[in-house]
Amino acid sequence: MITSLNIKYSQKSDLLEMKQRFENHPPGKTLIQVFSGHVTKADVERLLHDLTEVFQGTPIIGTTTAGEIMDGLVEENTIVVNFSFFDSTTVRTTSVDCYDDLWVAGKILARNLKSAAPQTLILLGCGLKDGRTIDATLLLNALYEEFPQAVIAGAQAGDNGHGVISYVFTEDGIIDHGAVVASLSGQSLSAHNSYNLSWVPIGKKFTITKASGPRVYSIDNRSPLDLYNHYLGPEVVEGLPLAAADFPLVIERDGIPMAIHARGVNEDGSFDYIHSFHSGEQVQFGFCHSGLLAIAAKQIFDELRVHPAQVAFIYSCVSRKWILGQDIHVEITPISTLAPTAGFFAYGEYFTHPIGKCFFFSQTMTVLTLAELDEPEPLVYSHELKPFITKEESKQLKTLRVLHRLVETSANEIENMNNKLSEMAHEDCLTGLFNRRHFNRQFTAEFKRAQRSGEPLSLILIDVDAFKLYNDTYGHVKGDSCLRAVATVLKEIPQRPSDFVSRYGGEEFICILPNTSFEGAMLLAEKIRQDVIKLEIPHISSTVSTHLTVSIGVQTVEKITDQRTPEAIVMMCDEQLYAAKMNGRNRVCGNRVP
Ligand code: GH3
Ligand code: MG
Ligand code: MG
Repeated sequence: MITSLNIKYSQKSDLLEMKQRFENHPPGKTLIQVFSGHVTKADVERLLHDLTEVFQGTPIIGTTTAGEIMDGLVEENTIVVNFSFFDSTTVRTTSVDCYDDLWVAGKILARNLKSAAPQTLILLGCGLKDGRTIDATLLLNALYEEFPQAVIAGAQAGDNGHGVISYVFTEDGIIDHGAVVASLSGQSLSAHNSYNLSWVPIGKKFTITKASGPRVYSIDNRSPLDLYNHYLGPEVVEGLPLAAADFPLVIERDGIPMAIHARGVNEDGSFDYIHSFHSGEQVQFGFCHSGLLAIAAKQIFDELRVHPAQVAFIYSCVSRKWILGQDIHVEITPISTLAPTAGFFAYGEYFTHPIGKCFFFSQTMTVLTLAELDEPEPLVYSHELKPFITKEESKQLKTLRVLHRLVETSANEIENMNNKLSEMAHEDCLTGLFNRRHFNRQFTAEFKRAQRSGEPLSLILIDVDAFKLYNDTYGHVKGDSCLRAVATVLKEIPQRPSDFVSRYGGEEFICILPNTSFEGAMLLAEKIRQDVIKLEIPHISSTVSTHLTVSIGVQTVEKITDQRTPEAIVMMCDEQLYAAKMNGRNRVCGNRVP
């Protein structure tokens, strides 16, 4: 059983009562966690001096904050001290005070903790470097790699929104460029980590078109500044980067939606984000309102209450507090009905997902619940919850929900339409085959593939014989149906998924046959010629036959060397078609080159 108590510290005497009460509790089974809204180094020094004097040898981890959480209340400029007294869990702290390479920092922490065999790690990292929020992804990955069974929770130190310097500390000292961690291990310890984003994606999907690490130069081929101006307007652009925290970019990684907001705007219109992006990733703007918050708060509450909790640590993002204002209580207060609660508002949150991955989140509330259990089976709690939203609010929420649905439905429809349009842009509308543009793209790709693999590549070019005369005799409408009929023959041709047929122009068609020998291509061409004859389309004015016929050129390149180009291969194939025409039409002429 964990006994957990919070106090607000303002002077040394505040600590003494706690000391007397737990005089006989072993220091190694105690964790003191400090959330300090007094953010200067002098404040932290005084606090740490008192703590280490009263609680000699007791593990301590602490951080400066941008708001404190204590027993369901949200505070500012206070110092919340949480005491967790464990029956059997062993507590150890360590720190790293070099943060230039976060991967290395993670490995140093891991090395220090190796012998402790940690089950749960509470990590508090410094939040700022050169006035910008640190992306702790590497730190988390490095640490998690060493302790893949552990739950890593915690968050990044704040400085009340000044954005200058933040501190973390242990009983051994204060750090402004590093991280501290408390390791918890013991047979009966049960830990559960949960999170709540509540921001939902809305509107058009965008593609990151140019990014280098956390710096994004273009989204949908326009600068982020331009994009935010276009879609979000002056209310956001005039208050950048802070104002954009209301509308972060939402991205799904490993199936987990994450909100990523800009932390800096550069002169060239590019933005620096709290996380790295990769070119090609899809994002949407995210938004949140108190209704969404209430729904998510209910979900997290339901999730938490089936897990035994003897203490709950809330590590939430400062932007939640800024954006949600008073509504922040909607998600904080219910948790305090489950267990004693302490925590803080941070500059980035650490979270271990059950999928087996650690995430560096922003804009997220994370909750770590701990319990010491005699039996391995988790207890099921049955706390009842008061309604999250009042009647007056619910009318407005309904409107917002409908508005959200309207925007989402419209965006989805537009996206579907766009997909159709781009599909159609590949398509020849008369025959339904691919068009010349798509052929060019496809042939270039197959050319490169064959160049790499050293496999042969064959082309078949088909031209309807005396088609001008056909049109002259039967009219253009019949001419069109005639081309459609030839296309149906060609649609039957692909023998392998990589075979590709398209209309090349007028009454000409072309097939790409990757990894196909000359003999194979010739056989196929001959089959096409015969199948067209089998259509038995009368053509009384043809100089070749009584029925419609085609002439075909085949070209195979056994092995593509650097001297060849896609255009030159098409030209060689065209020469073969010309030869077929010159030799009397209704025939196949072919050529192979090494
Ligand atoms: P050859 O045997 O030498 O190929 O003679 P041809 O008459 O087929 O060749 P030519 O290039 O002189 O004429 C091609 C004709 O195909 C002319 C053009 O009107 C017709 N054509 C091209 N595209 C279409 C189309 O989409 N529909 C119809 N109906 N006719 C088309
Ligand atoms: Mg022609
Ligand atoms: Mg022709």
